[in-house]
Amino acid sequence: MGPVSYKAEYIWIDGTEPTAKLRSKTRILADGEALPIWGFDGSSTNQAEGHASDRVLQPVFSCPDPIRGGAHVLVLCEVLNIDMTPHESNMRALLRPVAEKFAAQAPVFGIEQEYTFFDGARPLGFPVNGFPAAQGGYYCGVGSDEIFGRDIVEKHLDHCLAAGLSISGINAEVMPGQWEFQVGPVGPLEVSDQLWIARWLLYRTAEDFNVSATLNPKPVKGDWNGAGAHTNFSTKAMREDYRAIISACEALGEGSKPLDHVKNYGAGIDERLTGLHETAPWNEFSYGVSDRGASVRIPWQVEKDGKGYIEDRRPNANVDPYVVTRLITDTCCTGLEK
Ligand code: ADP
Ligand code: MN
Ligand code: MN
Ligand code: MN
Ligand code: MN
Repeated sequence: MGPVSYKAEYIWIDGTEPTAKLRSKTRILADGEALPIWGFDGSSTNQAEGHASDRVLQPVFSCPDPIRGGAHVLVLCEVLNIDMTPHESNMRALLRPVAEKFAAQAPVFGIEQEYTFFDGARPLGFPVNGFPAAQGGYYCGVGSDEIFGRDIVEKHLDHCLAAGLSISGINAEVMPGQWEFQVGPVGPLEVSDQLWIARWLLYRTAEDFNVSATLNPKPVKGDWNGAGAHTNFSTKAMREDYRAIISACEALGEGSKPLDHVKNYGAGIDERLTGLHETAPWNEFSYGVSDRGASVRIPWQVEKDGKGYIEDRRPNANVDPYVVTRLITDTCCTGLEK
């Protein structure tokens, strides 16, 4: 006998400024019942005024809920106004037509999501007073003197896999308590939907360990690495021909494009893109093979093979994937059409 009902966790992106937050609530649905549109109080999420507070949740992506298991599901939603037009905070609605326009170029993305665990006000692994040993041994480290939160990270990875997400790897990062997971390579809407679900699963998984995860791009000031969301990108042409790799890099560097992109790559980007700590300065565009100090890196293997993908290293950890994939698709695919 199957369950008589199932739980659907409706997840959406709110209107918090300058960086949107995830929200979710649970709906009980009858066995076999399709996912209905739903509503919420937009005045509590910076998406409406109190006197006209109703906003609409439109399901756009669902997957098994690995936290609850069974037939329960996670449901990612777009936020609409009550006349069914996209709410102004709905960045997915802006990506849809761009993804459709350039679908024939088959753009795909792999996003490296860096993040930092916090235990109260301190990054996980930082001593109560002062600082841990300087950076050097933590990246891809092993052992209790270098690694903080691996049990959470492993659980999150298992949850992402059970949800059916295209998660492609994890690694410990340069600062204690800092980690990364990668989603992709898949299309612009797919990578973005999946990244938002993976972020929700990260917060939800860490919650059970009394640890919080943050996408703060510069969680500790000073000589500590920030947290980014390197965005790897290719089109069919780039996967076949090195000239298309160069054309994509050139398109990203043309005219006002560097600034147009950077100002939409996550709040506080100038604090992270300083030119130090494996970054290029936010106001100077550059690209190069193997260069982790460039805005855009061409991996060595790509130069060797004469085809592949490029890595835009500029996006902050707190970037909206709907925004970064829209900008890169639009800029590079328009450039490649020429
Ligand atoms: P890094 O050396 O920068 O840490 P990672 O291994 O963390 O690299 O991430 C590389 C990313 O590149 C992965 O997310 C992967 O999905 C993505 N990727 C691989 N091939 C392609 C491709 N052809 N197009 C777009 N992204 C790709
Ligand atoms: Mn209520
Ligand atoms: Mn990486
Ligand atoms: Mn990294
Ligand atoms: Mn990278």
